[in-house]
Amino acid sequence: VDRVAGEEWDGTAATADGHAVKVLANVGSVTDAQGAVEAGAQGVGLFRTEFCYLAAAEEPDVSTQRRAYAEVLTPFAGQPVVVRTLDAGADKPLSFLEPGTEPNPALGVRGLRVSFEQPGVLDRQLEAIAAAAADSGAEVSVMAPMVATAAEARWFAERARAAGVDRAGVMIEVPAAALSAPEILEAVDFVSIGTNDLAQYVFAADRMLGALAELNDPWQPALLRLIDAVGRAGRDLDKSVGVCGEAAADPLLARVLVGLGVGSLSMVAAAVPAVGSALAGHPLSTYRRAAEAALAAAGPVDARRAARAVLE
Ligand code: PEP
Ligand code: MG
Repeated sequence: VDRVAGEEWDGTAATADGHAVKVLANVGSVTDAQGAVEAGAQGVGLFRTEFCYLAAAEEPDVSTQRRAYAEVLTPFAGQPVVVRTLDAGADKPLSFLEPGTEPNPALGVRGLRVSFEQPGVLDRQLEAIAAAAADSGAEVSVMAPMVATAAEARWFAERARAAGVDRAGVMIEVPAAALSAPEILEAVDFVSIGTNDLAQYVFAADRMLGALAELNDPWQPALLRLIDAVGRAGRDLDKSVGVCGEAAADPLLARVLVGLGVGSLSMVAAAVPAVGSALAGHPLSTYRRAAEAALAAAGPVDARRAARAVLE
């Protein structure tokens, strides 16, 4: 997404009738964190910690991790930052967490699944995150990737709390997790929908393959229906539902997501001003109508058109 030249945004992220939405950035480095501050992000909705270690041959020790995380967190003192624990595997291999040869790495031992076999790596990372949170003054939560069941979510939240991190959530990026959103939300403080992987898994279409880009289109009504189910669970249980996949970076789709019950949007920093300012265009009821129109569409092109007809 290119930042629109001269885009003006006063930093208030709310619908026209005053329903607040968090507009956050996705970061993976200190440079990204600075870019997020410059773009006016209200915090970080996804810190991809594995990006710090793509070149590491061995597991970094707790004090090395603590310093690296504190550097990224410090610009956000007083603001919320969601730190995702290592999401190793498939498109983001880490040499110190190699699962061995697998025929289908995207369906293999990746994300939180690595931690069931090697919980010490997770516990050391959580210890480093808790310490970096105290060092930086940021309002830190932790979030697990590739969670499939409520039992996994509970396992993660217990470990996070034992390590001294008060707020624990999980990503919803496996279809089973979206379908279990009420049970998962009982176990954690919040969820954030990873639309990149959720699309890949719900359509059985590799997200890296350009030939399957249409199936991975975040406007696919089947994907929107899963997001709708998660949004409803969040409203029922009064818990926060976010989106941190690329879908959040499209100002039109971002407003549809708000209509589906999403309360925080996290995206590449360049998209923050355009999404932040677009939210003020209409009241929440209009975003709900746009969402209903998109949900009822026959395909992604129709869904986009239907939402645009309501919003533009
Ligand atoms: C996602 O899957 O949508 C996501 C935000 O995580 P990543 O792109 O790092 O897999
Ligand atoms: Mg993902």
